[in-house]
Amino acid sequence: MPIDLHTHSSRSDGTATPTELVAEAAAHGLDVVALTDHDTVDGWQEAATAAVANGVTLVRGIELSTRYDGRSVHLLAYLPDPSYQPLAAEMARVRGGRDSRLPLMMERLRELDIDITEDDVRDGAAEGAVLGRPHVADALVGKGVVGHRNEAFEKMLGPGGPAFVPRYATSLPHAVELVRAAGGVPVVAHPWGRNRVLTAAALADLQQRGLVGIEVDHQDHAPAAREELRRIAGDLGLVATGSSDWHGTGKVD
Ligand code: AMP
Ligand code: ZN
Ligand code: FE
Ligand code: FE
Repeated sequence: MPIDLHTHSSRSDGTATPTELVAEAAAHGLDVVALTDHDTVDGWQEAATAAVANGVTLVRGIELSTRYDGRSVHLLAYLPDPSYQPLAAEMARVRGGRDSRLPLMMERLRELDIDITEDDVRDGAAEGAVLGRPHVADALVGKGVVGHRNEAFEKMLGPGGPAFVPRYATSLPHAVELVRAAGGVPVVAHPWGRNRVLTAAALADLQQRGLVGIEVDHQDHAPAAREELRRIAGDLGLVATGSSDWHGTGKVD
């Protein structure tokens, strides 16, 4: 049974609407697809309607922005109760941090003599989308400043880059506990993708706090990393998942 446990719609930084995303999943023969937009459940309802229409099972999910040892870690949350206030409030706080970061990023870019405004960024995103650096990257591509998203991250938006501005993120152990308290299933996303802040010992500690799984098969993991993560998951009794982290046409990969 083909399933995909990690996708993004235009409610965050994907390019397909939730309806289009579910239809694509069905067209590719998937039986199950999880919608895991960054820090929002805004796409769930539309995706659920499309899932019925397309005969696909939808897994309602979120990809939460968290921090561990000062580094960014993404936590997938499956089937949490979205009305559980502590989790809803925490997501709202992260989205607030994203909104207040945007004008600061625009200032930094203008200091680099790049003519860009918040409106340029919003114009390229769906209405009400949770805005992130990928949208800023898209605006830079649109202006011809860079050739593609990755180049924008490499030259300007990545950590240490001239337009990098930090934003609020939940502490990872707390996020794991929040997801569990909301009745959800926490799975750490691509832990060895852009950094390896999560050691085997850190993963063991998170398992004690309620972590259920590790996303092992992910495009950012080389074969050796997958093998080692699969072994760690087995040792700790954690589920090993695999997924596409699909962003529509919004990612060069
Ligand atoms: P944000 O949450 O707004 O800080 O943006 C983080 C998102 O940007 C991640 O979810 C990735 O999809 C994307 N991202 C981070 N680093 C890179 C990179 N080097 N190249 C392309 N996309 C990246
Ligand atoms: Zn994303
Ligand atoms: Fe991620
Ligand atoms: Fe993702």
